[in-house]
Amino acid sequence: MSTLAEDRLFYEIREECGVFGVFGHPEAANLTYLGLYALQHRGQEGAGICSTDGKQLYIEKSTGLVADIFSDKRLRKLPGFAAIGHNRYSTAGGSSLKNVQPLLATFSLGSIAVAHNGNLVNATELREQLEREGAIFQSTADSEVIVHLTAHSRADTFKARLIDALSQVAGAFSLLVLREKELIAVRDPYGVRPLCLGSFDGAYVVSSETCAFDLIGAEYIRDIEPGEMVVISEDGVESLKALHSHKKAYCIFEFIYFARPDSFIFGGINVNEVRKSLGRNLAKERPVEADLVIPVPDSGMPAALGYATEAGIPFELGLIRNHYVGRTFIEPKQSIRHFGVKIKLNPVRNILRGKRVIVVDDSIVRGTTSKKIVKMVREVGGAREVHVRISSPKTIGPCFYGIDTPTRRELIASSHRVEEIRKYITADSLAYLSLDGLRASVPNPDDYCYACFTNDYPIRFPGEQVEQMELLFV
Ligand code: AMP
Repeated sequence: MSTLAEDRLFYEIREECGVFGVFGHPEAANLTYLGLYALQHRGQEGAGICSTDGKQLYIEKSTGLVADIFSDKRLRKLPGFAAIGHNRYSTAGGSSLKNVQPLLATFSLGSIAVAHNGNLVNATELREQLEREGAIFQSTADSEVIVHLTAHSRADTFKARLIDALSQVAGAFSLLVLREKELIAVRDPYGVRPLCLGSFDGAYVVSSETCAFDLIGAEYIRDIEPGEMVVISEDGVESLKALHSHKKAYCIFEFIYFARPDSFIFGGINVNEVRKSLGRNLAKERPVEADLVIPVPDSGMPAALGYATEAGIPFELGLIRNHYVGRTFIEPKQSIRHFGVKIKLNPVRNILRGKRVIVVDDSIVRGTTSKKIVKMVREVGGAREVHVRISSPKTIGPCFYGIDTPTRRELIASSHRVEEIRKYITADSLAYLSLDGLRASVPNPDDYCYACFTNDYPIRFPGEQVEQMELLFV
């Protein structure tokens, strides 16, 4: 594939997100604000909330962080008993308000707002086809395709139109749709991204992750099932088997890196427990003599704890993270060298000095972070030996379903052997968890997508893009 075609493909698919919704509560927008706050880790580029009072939809959205966007004044502009919200992930393409969700549209059956987590793999074809038929797109977000397909459907009812639209799209979607009098939650047939249903104070709530339920004091009821459409209205909750589901393909990377450790996802499995067991299995597979185990905070934390417990080696916080590093940080041009990772992480010298240290991280993507961390632990921290242990297998394939990974050629492990990567990051030793070790860390391991580690993609690209995908992996 040409570089241009590959870049175009990736430009359009780089999104990660979080969604939250409420139906049947007088403080729907406030609760959605809190839900988005708890889901901030799923997206920091922008956020939006759309509410309904039964007569019309109201929307407020902006680029930035949830707490900066929503003031009291802004939340007061979102009246009503139901609301949906969305956090959008920062992408290389820069932030743009037009891509911040929910997307709002009005057509013959009334107004709809859509909040989407995941990525569609046939959005480009569908978009081109819709544009040929006269559709005018407001954004470059692939989610807008769903809105147009719904508007174009000739089915009688709104639900039938939405099902018609969703049966034409391929890829990952955990989707919330708000109309004047109902909230609809749908999960793609593979269940790639999480989506769960809860109750709060007589209302229903829907969220990407249960950590948002914890914040507002909601109770987890169950997951929205792959291929299921849940319609919440004054009449209660209706469950439809809307989309034929073939095989589950839950994203394993949610457990490794993306979801919050206090969440229970994919059928109520705790993320922290899985991460600890990744670390334990890594210690069994890849032991090394050392004085300390330290995590790369925050994502490496539970795996490092698991590793240290299994190996019987003391666990220490040898690297401290500054949590307040924002996108607007300006790097000084001169005088301060190698600023990069220092702004985020600082080694604790008295812990590391003279020690043989095992550094546990969840993944190596480009390898640049690991290289800087090894250097920092050795040169600034004063460690005698630095052994890097990664709590997932080699990341060799990009994600087409909603995790923001770079192109294949930028993934260091797609073209380098472990020993070459070790040399590059200047570690004394480097080891990854095996695929078997990863599979042993989750219940029902056949229910997951491991494509980023295996290049075995469960949801294929349609038409021309199948060839593009195959070309990518020769
Ligand atoms: P690098 O190898 O320098 O590209 O970065 C590896 C680091 O990025 C690891 O510490 C991971 O925790 C983190 N990471 C892995 N996947 C992602 C992702 N999709 N978005 C942001 N950071 C990530």
